[in-house]
Amino acid sequence: MIVRIALWVLSAVFVFWPEHGIRAQERLKVFVSILPRKYFVEQIGKGRVDVGVMVEPGASPHTYEPKPSQMASLAGCKIYFAIGVTFERVWLPKISASNPTMKVVSTQDGIERIPMKAHHHDDPKKEEAGGPDPHIWLSPPLVLLQARSILAALQATSPSDHDFFEANYRVFASSIMDLDAGLRSIFRGKRGMSFMVFHPAWGYFAKAYGLSQIPIEAEGKEPKPAKVQELITRAKKSGIKVIFVQPQVSSRSAEQMAKEIGAEVVTADPLAEDWGENLRKVSEKFAQALK
Ligand code: ZN
Repeated sequence: MIVRIALWVLSAVFVFWPEHGIRAQERLKVFVSILPRKYFVEQIGKGRVDVGVMVEPGASPHTYEPKPSQMASLAGCKIYFAIGVTFERVWLPKISASNPTMKVVSTQDGIERIPMKAHHHDDPKKEEAGGPDPHIWLSPPLVLLQARSILAALQATSPSDHDFFEANYRVFASSIMDLDAGLRSIFRGKRGMSFMVFHPAWGYFAKAYGLSQIPIEAEGKEPKPAKVQELITRAKKSGIKVIFVQPQVSSRSAEQMAKEIGAEVVTADPLAEDWGENLRKVSEKFAQALK
């Protein structure tokens, strides 16, 4: 009998528990720009946040423009977690203007940003020419800092969930540290080595593990023929046998170059939603290709 009552009480608690009952309607609505950052916010907010993503799977945050339906879906959004990707510079002021109660949190604040690699100053209007590199979500040590500011923003917006977010943050932070240790061991003994990549998304990642990326793309475009020749010479000299591309960016010159130097074209996705798993997989591919 006592067991039966205990079970009844337990099931009642379960039914009325915040995540299953009343609270489900009150999820904190937030937006991020790209999929990996949805993962970050969900690790800390768990079932108490509802995370929308602006850049849809398969699109690139450098060329993306929000659809009217997405602009409308921002209604009721409490926090926008910005990161400094190209489309935000044009669209965030518009998004803010139509959602005046929404808070914009710049998660890139406090992170020392490196200039975008391989720019040539021939189009000073181009935002990313020499501007700060936005790919800060690909370096685990920097993601730790971003997680901290995500935590602070969620706690400030929903003070009653302060401890819940804090506890989730701790678990997430320790998983990031584990990942970082794992990647350090993957790249042990590879310091100073280079990998060739079409779109230079991996600058902070390379910096974190003592590596260097050789980008093919110049200012967000296919390189000019003279630059391609220069890259081919460099690749042959350093024995590059792999050229990395990503699914969101078309990379004709990467395929051509690979043919000329007898290299393989391999995918390394900087925008996958399963951030940690993806980073581990990509690291294995980089480690095999390092020269
Ligand atoms: Zn990019």
